[in-house]
Amino acid sequence: MSIDVEDYFHVSVFDGIVPRHLWERMESRVVANTTRLLDIFEEFGVRSTFFVLGWVAERYPELVRTIANRGHEVASHGYAHRLIYDQTPAAFRSDVRRAKQLLEDASGRQVLGYRAPSYSITPRSLWALDVLLEQGYEYDASIFPIRHDRYGIPVSARHPYAIPRSRGALIEVPGSTTRLGPLNLPIAGGGYFRILPYWWTRWGIERVNRQEGRPAVFYLHPWEIDPEQPRLRAGRLGEFRHYRNLRRTELRLRQLLTDFRFETVGAIAANTRVAVPQAEPVGFPLPYSW
Ligand SMILES: [Zn+2]
Repeated sequence: MSIDVEDYFHVSVFDGIVPRHLWERMESRVVANTTRLLDIFEEFGVRSTFFVLGWVAERYPELVRTIANRGHEVASHGYAHRLIYDQTPAAFRSDVRRAKQLLEDASGRQVLGYRAPSYSITPRSLWALDVLLEQGYEYDASIFPIRHDRYGIPVSARHPYAIPRSRGALIEVPGSTTRLGPLNLPIAGGGYFRILPYWWTRWGIERVNRQEGRPAVFYLHPWEIDPEQPRLRAGRLGEFRHYRNLRRTELRLRQLLTDFRFETVGAIAANTRVAVPQAEPVGFPLPYSW
């Protein structure tokens, strides 16, 4: 289970509509929405990973402390929610370093995991893996093995694996997909969870658990359970992706937590590290160099 902790106006769909210098002036709803998620998880006895945006941690350090104190894993969603492939390696380095520092100061724990804004580690930005290792991250959850207009490496592995780099191995924990013919289809989280009917997610996770014997990685954002958030204009596709079924999402989440058991992403990454030498080939063929 994972939550990307950001406000509704941080979403990449609103880049250019709510420029960064206006973030301060927007009505913030992230603390209330994240607290509601914490209450739901407590009700179901679920531990989750919260990939918190550094910008949020800087303004609401007590929220980060609360997440950690309530038994969850605090991980990093970077500082400023910039797509990685739009940044230089130097800018990305300072973004992830700043986020890690803020999150560790606020939580009092070590931060080992990272998830990129909009899954933006793609063939264009694989250098980011080296920067993450250099900055002390041990796992990443940013490579989605699907085709999408903004992200994805469709040929990459569908289950957690180690990526060998010159500095060591980074554990990659991809978002979950199910395989249908030649396609990897996303099954677990975000817009796919809200927009498609609930049975799709349940069927997909069952398939991954039962047929493949692997855990599924689910993700959601605090704003996805907030139908009262202010409406922003983002064009037809953007608005469909952001606002569809907000009213139904909390109920669906409760159903999901009834149907499956969940752990933190860090726990999956730790198991992957142990399992890799015996079970999994670390190198797999890709049409470009890692
Ligand atoms: Zn995000």
